[in-house]
Amino acid sequence: RALSAAAVCRQTPYIANHDRIENPDNTKLFLDNRFLESKATTWIDLYDPATNNIVTRVPQSTTEELVTAVDSAENAFKSWRRTTLLTRQQIMFKFVQLLRRDWDRLAARITLEQGKTFADAKGDVLRGLQVAETACGITSQLTGELLEVSTDMETRTYREPLGVVAAICPFNFPAMIPLWCLPPAIITGNTVVMKPSERDPGAALIIAELAKEAGLPDGVFNVVHGTAPTVDFLIEEPRIKAISFVGSDKAGEYIYTRGTANGKRVQANLGAKNHAIVMPDSNKSQALNAIVGAAFGAAGQRCMAISVMVTVGDTKEWVSELIELAKNLKVTGGFEPDADVGPVISPHSKARIESLIQSAADEGAKIVLDGRGYEVDKYPNGNFVGPTIITGVKPGMRAYEEEIFGPVLSVVSVDTLDEAISFVNANKYGNGVAIFTHSGSVARKFQKEIECGQVGINIPVPVPLPMFSFTGNKRSILGDLNFYGKSGLHFYTQTKTVTALWRSEDAGADGFGVNMPTQH
Ligand code: NAD
Repeated sequence: RALSAAAVCRQTPYIANHDRIENPDNTKLFLDNRFLESKATTWIDLYDPATNNIVTRVPQSTTEELVTAVDSAENAFKSWRRTTLLTRQQIMFKFVQLLRRDWDRLAARITLEQGKTFADAKGDVLRGLQVAETACGITSQLTGELLEVSTDMETRTYREPLGVVAAICPFNFPAMIPLWCLPPAIITGNTVVMKPSERDPGAALIIAELAKEAGLPDGVFNVVHGTAPTVDFLIEEPRIKAISFVGSDKAGEYIYTRGTANGKRVQANLGAKNHAIVMPDSNKSQALNAIVGAAFGAAGQRCMAISVMVTVGDTKEWVSELIELAKNLKVTGGFEPDADVGPVISPHSKARIESLIQSAADEGAKIVLDGRGYEVDKYPNGNFVGPTIITGVKPGMRAYEEEIFGPVLSVVSVDTLDEAISFVNANKYGNGVAIFTHSGSVARKFQKEIECGQVGINIPVPVPLPMFSFTGNKRSILGDLNFYGKSGLHFYTQTKTVTALWRSEDAGADGFGVNMPTQH
């Protein structure tokens, strides 16, 4: 039974508190522009990370529902690919306007399901919204090449859509990452089947509702749910031509390997370990404040979070001030107006983070600020981990080798810039890195010699805006076309090259040619 969009998603006023929800709704599928109750037999309970009260139940989509999503996207592709670029652009203009209108509503859903603070959730939405805004400029981004290659003959290129594409998203940016995929995919003429994270799919459904309201035709965007069985369906389904994945190494390596073996184009952004190098000539207060924000903001659950601070020379003495700054952060439910750090996503994640902190202590590091067992009076059942700082961390320790994905900052001390660069370059990941310095030549040397794909100079989280691309490298990515920017448009399109000969009427007929040309 189809439910109207209004009946399902539009909550006015939307929920912007951590109160228990009486009779929570199930999360709906979005197929062919309709919100549908799933016929699933398996459901995943989704809890508010601040309270562990149930928020909704997420279906493990049935095979029939998954097939319907692809049928719908395949059918829609036939006409969507023929719409003019200007038609798609008009829908994108409207979509952007609606995302702005419902910005708070999206952010509130994120805080409720994912736990991050409301202010931070607004940033999550904005970073996705900016991808949609940039997609509005498609008319000057998709121009091809043209050359007169011979008399009366020219060769020109077009970028054409691939067909049905899939997006498999992580929990940590429930709006931004769906919006890394949807605008570039549809503006270039593809149709989309999206699987948001089963841990917080609400924002993706609001995005679906807004896309429909913006005028996106039936079937251009579909949302399915579930865990590995849904992913397995998407990677095996031959009608899906490309997969955009963002998430952990384990899932990403599997999806990339299987997806490419099945002939699909796959872009997979994976895990990270991002270092911040602090030089003695840096502005101490600027550097420490930036690192505290980047390490503990979003409870450390950003792929670009700073998780290792590398002190160079005397800056190791600055750790005591770092601890004081971290202690001042307010850890509480994300809707609290003074919240700096919300809960982590689940009790399992909290337990994992705390065990990694313990492993560092067991392996000889020193926990100088311990956020384990953190209690928030108003939210006694939340998954809170307080800011944690560990010194004396070394390669080989679990806390250094694994992505902790929590509010934990490891501190490593070296004597020189060269040592710092070698240390960071020895890490398998290459997502982001930052240096704090007042020296242009130090910054220049660092930028040249560091291997990471996204470098911040006095900027702790150097995520490029969508006129550029998200360019993590090394083991932080599989595939060679990045998300959004020019590279994102290339991912969702294939090049068609046309060579045309238009002789003038009086040129006469060409002779018969059986050999490859030997003259220019
Ligand atoms: P995750 O890998 O657990 O989940 C991501 C998606 O994969 C989800 O939709 C999930 O349902 C699916 N999935 C999970 N396990 C699977 C399996 N065994 N088989 C098939 N599908 C599976 O990741 P997460 O915990 O949601 O997100 C956090 C991770 O994402 C971190 O490692 C973080 O660094 C990474 N991340 C990377 C970037 C980047 O751009 N490099 C951005 C955001 C997050």
